[in-house]
Amino acid sequence: MKRSSILILGAGPTGLGAARQLTIAGESDWALLEASSEAGGMAASFFDENGFTWDIGGHVQFSHYIFFDKAMEEFLGRNGWLNHQRESWVWMRDRFIPYPFQNNIHHLPNDDLNHCLQGLLKIECQLKPKPSNFQEWIDSSFGRGLAEVFMDPYNFKVWAYPPAMLNTTWVGERVAVTDLGRVLKNLVYRTNDLSWGPNNTFQFPKKGGTGAIWRACAAQLPQCKLHFNTKVARIDLQTKRVYTTDGLAHAYERLISTIPLRELINLTGQMQLKALAKRGLLYSSSNILGLGLRGKPREDLATKCWMYFPENNCPFYRVTVFSNYSPYNVPDINHYWSLMCEVSESFQKPVDQAALMEQVIQGTMNTKLIERREDIISTWQYRAEYGYPTPCLHRDEVLAEIIPFLEHHNVYSRGRFGMWKYEVGNQDHSFMQGVEVVEHLLNDREEITAFDANHVNSRKHPWPFERWLETDKSKTLLIRQIDI
Ligand SMILES: Cc1cc2nc3c(=O)[nH]c(=O)nc-3n(C[C@H](O)[C@H](O)[C@H](O)COP(=O)(O)OP(=O)(O)OC[C@H]3O[C@@H](n4cnc5c(N)ncnc54)[C@H](O)[C@@H]3O)c2cc1C
Repeated sequence: MKRSSILILGAGPTGLGAARQLTIAGESDWALLEASSEAGGMAASFFDENGFTWDIGGHVQFSHYIFFDKAMEEFLGRNGWLNHQRESWVWMRDRFIPYPFQNNIHHLPNDDLNHCLQGLLKIECQLKPKPSNFQEWIDSSFGRGLAEVFMDPYNFKVWAYPPAMLNTTWVGERVAVTDLGRVLKNLVYRTNDLSWGPNNTFQFPKKGGTGAIWRACAAQLPQCKLHFNTKVARIDLQTKRVYTTDGLAHAYERLISTIPLRELINLTGQMQLKALAKRGLLYSSSNILGLGLRGKPREDLATKCWMYFPENNCPFYRVTVFSNYSPYNVPDINHYWSLMCEVSESFQKPVDQAALMEQVIQGTMNTKLIERREDIISTWQYRAEYGYPTPCLHRDEVLAEIIPFLEHHNVYSRGRFGMWKYEVGNQDHSFMQGVEVVEHLLNDREEITAFDANHVNSRKHPWPFERWLETDKSKTLLIRQIDI
């Protein structure tokens, strides 16, 4: 039987962040098990037989951490990146409206515009009670008009659950709220309001898609510690052993798991946790459909990054002009371009897998993304069972029971689906959750990303974190006092 002081499950950004931090710290007693043949997890990339590159949905690189930025530069080099200005749009009522939609409603037809403005005026004059779910938050922040025209249909399409089933703790950085004065100014002067949000500039790898980042990261780690094609089949919390599908056992002292928490619970066989998970750990699946196209994008698509689609004339909620992210995402940028479409799925919003590609192609024609079906020369379809960790109503209370129970057994579940927090579920957050859990285990430092999303998302953070410096200093003081 193999033994490790620290065993990591999963080679996505979280597991790799942990592995790299152990390596930096000079630790040698660790190992990583990964079911797939390659690193990257949900941030992996694929290459189809016609020479098109695909990601699992539109991944863009932006970060809240200087540490993460430096790591990215180290993985791909300074010249390995392309920098982009975000250009995101909403397609509805047969026209493009700049994102954030709520600040640019002057592009709407008059009836819709009037409906939105009436709703906004009404909420301006009302007291705003604390919303108890995302639907109430939408209504009190945007008014019924904007909700009916955009927020309700769009959010159901993205989340695959009615907004009333979601909590409001995640919205801070992710949804632009309206400011009536700003809306009116944009209306009067017919100006577009484009700059909101954390990702208004972003990076993308020049070659190899998003997965190139994580393949490069894995390549810099001690290879003897990375075990690919090794799927965990069972975990015994009492004896601290992980059993893999190839029949081997791996003993650990501490386990960092990045596999989806619901799966982790199943692997440990803890029945009481299974009931909790069913109640509070909802998720949606992501269907990604790539269309490789002959020719060049129309002029109005030539600089767009991604577009949102709230209407029911297409199954997708978002489409990325993936050839705009890097010319190397297509076989020859002078003759080809590509679109990547995302369709959510849940028990509340089932998807007919067999019919989906045809529905997507029809949707791209209904929404005027493409004109001729004959231009499609390559199609690619991928389904991620775990796509979005739904910030549902009971999530936080359920996590407050599950995470400490597992930690009591020396199991640290971290990452997009390990911690189940959408608000800290991007690549930068995931990677840093891996880094921080190692800092916690080795140096007793506080894990900030996993447990304080609002703080992490409030600005870009130095390395080490400000809070660590304060506590490190007081720890040193305490040690000195004991010495004296
Ligand atoms: C549609 C979509 C769009 C996104 N867009 C962005 C974006 O624009 N920007 C951004 O930064 N992030 C984006 N993300 C999020 C990004 O993909 C995640 O942050 C990241 O991949 C999470 O990393 P992780 O390591 O926590 O989990 P994962 O990447 O899921 O890694 C977990 C690993 O565990 C392995 N595993 C699972 N079960 C087992 C088992 N039984 N045994 C062994 N190994 C196992 C898996 O194979 C996987 O490699 C997006 C995600 C989706 C789905």
